[in-house]
Amino acid sequence: MDIEKPINTKALFLGPKSENYDFFRQMLLFLMDDHAEWRRYFHPNDAPIVSDGEKGQKDFLDTLQKTREALVDLAGQLQESSTPWFSPRYLGHMNTDTLMAANLGYMLTVLYNPNNCAYEGSPATTALEIQVGRQLATLMGYDPQRCWGHITSGGTVANYEAVWLARNLASIPFAIRACKPELVDGLSDWQLANRSTAQILDLMDRAKESGVFEEMREQTVRGKGMAGANLGAIIVPQSKHYSWTKAADIFGIGQDNLYSVPVRENYRMDINALKARIDSLITGKKPILAVVAVVGTTEEGAVDEVHEIVKLRERYAEEGVAFYLHIDAAYGGYARALFLDEENRFIPFEGFHTICIDSKDTGNDWLNRDVYEAFKAMPKADSITVDPHKLGYVPYAAGAFLAADRRMIDVISYFAAYVFDKSDDNPMLLGSYIIEGSKAGAAAAAVWMAHRVVPLNRSGYGAIIRASIEGAYRFYTSLQNATPIEVGGKRFEVLPLTCPDSNIVDYAFHEIGNPSLKEMNALNQYLYERCSYKSGPLYTNDFITSKTSLTVEEYGEAPLSFIKRFGFDPSEWERHGSVVVLRSCVLTPYLVNNTTYKTYWNTFLKAMEDAIADRQRSQ
Ligand SMILES: *Cc1c(COP(=O)(O)O)cnc(C)c1O
Repeated sequence: MDIEKPINTKALFLGPKSENYDFFRQMLLFLMDDHAEWRRYFHPNDAPIVSDGEKGQKDFLDTLQKTREALVDLAGQLQESSTPWFSPRYLGHMNTDTLMAANLGYMLTVLYNPNNCAYEGSPATTALEIQVGRQLATLMGYDPQRCWGHITSGGTVANYEAVWLARNLASIPFAIRACKPELVDGLSDWQLANRSTAQILDLMDRAKESGVFEEMREQTVRGKGMAGANLGAIIVPQSKHYSWTKAADIFGIGQDNLYSVPVRENYRMDINALKARIDSLITGKKPILAVVAVVGTTEEGAVDEVHEIVKLRERYAEEGVAFYLHIDAAYGGYARALFLDEENRFIPFEGFHTICIDSKDTGNDWLNRDVYEAFKAMPKADSITVDPHKLGYVPYAAGAFLAADRRMIDVISYFAAYVFDKSDDNPMLLGSYIIEGSKAGAAAAAVWMAHRVVPLNRSGYGAIIRASIEGAYRFYTSLQNATPIEVGGKRFEVLPLTCPDSNIVDYAFHEIGNPSLKEMNALNQYLYERCSYKSGPLYTNDFITSKTSLTVEEYGEAPLSFIKRFGFDPSEWERHGSVVVLRSCVLTPYLVNNTTYKTYWNTFLKAMEDAIADRQRSQ
């Protein structure tokens, strides 16, 4: 086994100052030359269609000129209004620079324009997609021989696929009763609704053996629709991404059947509240279609305690209550690489060198036992969403749906997968097992390139993400220790929302002594507007961030403790029910060097001070 050489993170990206421009340009020339030759050598004796004479004609040159002008126009629009993700001055959404390997892979592949819907349209890149699907499933701890994985347009569609699968699976035991009752003999409705995923898949195998599989599938919701199908509830944490709300609608589950479980002060799902929710559903004889845990919440980067949910599921199984478990790790999934050694073994907790920055001074070590155990327990889930276009540092559009047991796709396929897919080398008709149809092979190639250069373990992605977490912890610690900013005789403090489980830091500024939450929200809204596209072209902004509002509708009482830390009366929370926080996803790997970090921290402080001063002037 090759021992991976450590990678130099700075050699992976174009760089904030285009430091790696020479290399990038060389590779661009290579890929153009290489592709041009590919065209020329396809039947080299075929005569050229475009002659040199024609190329000199006026209408020809005019037409080329149109393309040139359009490109210049587009370049101008992009430069004027794009967000400079690449700079450490950008600490906002889940963006930073993307890997050169992925960009080059995308650019090269787009010239071939493969369509991964069907093998015929993409013999090269369908294979790459299956390969990266397996790599990502392996990253999640799934058995590479049994798993299933593919690239989606993003986490949203991957989450939809989870609901699609869970929903169709849940209707299988009832469908089997309708066409082959002896296979589920003696089982009550409640028992049929509480088959585990493994039991359902085994039932499906028996239906296949009995030759009733197709007939049986027609009896599931895909044939009969949702009318009369009491498939039950989907349970999500309050911190869920809004794709779950949309999924409940699209798949006919209904918002009434989507239950949000409260989160605690650390923005992780409250396990006791989850248990209480499940118990009350059981009492009401309502089956549980699925439970969703989030690894890396969109707003806080919080990691739900997957290991506790897994334990809970095992306990309920003993009581005859089963549910599908999905992990929405769209954001945090790649961080599992931190825990894998070069031979893909999950590193023991004791052997894990904690990512701590100046921990002697600050006491802020990253990695607590819960986060560790949560990542470790991930392969116990039936399926997982992960986004290469977030912590995979790959350009859009690349998400991924991963499942533990590939037999599952037979419940959604419109093509009898089990007949054709017996051998591994069988070309895949992806379009028949996924939500999307035509799709960019270039996206799969970009992910493949990224994985080829950056291994999915501690010395590859682990190293990049470790650097980003370190940067986030430096930022978090600085916020914690910041002395109030003085502007116009007033003092402004800043407090972080909570200690991050990953690399997202939320925080808010507050004028010391101000008793009004409404006023604090207005202040932070102003700061956001000053540090975003809202204040005009981003190119002149000194610091750019994002914001979110934590509302009582979405988060219940979870934000109350944050409000209290500013000294607000709890009645302020009752009155306004919303707190605006600035949100910095620290994906950049560059904030690890002391000098660099200090420069950007001071830039941040100065930008905040200037913005507060401007607000005072305008009031
Ligand atoms: C980003 C995100 C999604 C949605 O993913 P897209 O790629 O934007 O479609 C879903 N869930 C979580 C937790 C996310 O962070």
